[in-house]
Amino acid sequence: MNVRKLIVGNWKMNGLKESLKEVSALTNGLSNLKKTSTTLSDDLVIVICPPATLLALVTATVVGSGVASGGQDCHAKGSGAHTGDISAHMLADAGATYVIVGHSERRSDHGETSADIEAKAQAAIGAGLIPIICVGETEAQRDAGQAEAVVLAQVRASLPNGCSAGQICFAYEPVWAIGTGRTPCIDDVAVVHGAIRRALLAQFGDVEGQTIAILYGGSVNAKNAAELLAVSEVNGALVGGASLTASAFLSIIETQL
Ligand code: PEP
Repeated sequence: MNVRKLIVGNWKMNGLKESLKEVSALTNGLSNLKKTSTTLSDDLVIVICPPATLLALVTATVVGSGVASGGQDCHAKGSGAHTGDISAHMLADAGATYVIVGHSERRSDHGETSADIEAKAQAAIGAGLIPIICVGETEAQRDAGQAEAVVLAQVRASLPNGCSAGQICFAYEPVWAIGTGRTPCIDDVAVVHGAIRRALLAQFGDVEGQTIAILYGGSVNAKNAAELLAVSEVNGALVGGASLTASAFLSIIETQL
């Protein structure tokens, strides 16, 4: 079974209603590409994760286009006294099919641990969403030669108990590469993605473990996307800054056609 390649846009805390014109431009651009490309198929999934305030509007804008929508975080509980938080069920109710959990900005800004992220991923699955579980080392950890060990520890601790392979995906995002314009060398990406794949094969078996998408994230743009996404065991990209305009996001998508 092939892994479905995913290109996910994370808008972070950016976007107002006027940004919906970028979503329309994206769906129009994709529909034009579909006329000329035979490879833009079900095997390439495009997801937009806007701020929660825009989720229902983005979902309505992408209807029928093949583009999916997702949340950027969810609470581990289904409902209750958690002012300001959003549950996975609420995201699903707004039309999301994916949710990012454990982004390094959540881990650093809100002190989220891998145990918290496991609970959030579990809640996402319970609401019928696919969690995109983010892992990645800091620059100090990489410099200390700990990148692979740190990432594998995060993968194991964030993996929802009892889940099946079809219910999850991962994003390897070196913290020092996010929003900095810096990317790891191709060999370093291959080493970490290979290690994550081996951990997933050990957990889910050779067939199922091979179907879990492992995305790369961190300063992906139109210039480096082709090279990064061609690395062994890289099954897509989690894109921040370059997903905010349709033109930049489309030029990344085009590298995969
Ligand atoms: C991200 O937000 O997950 C990300 C990778 O951001 P950027 O592409 O801007 O580095």
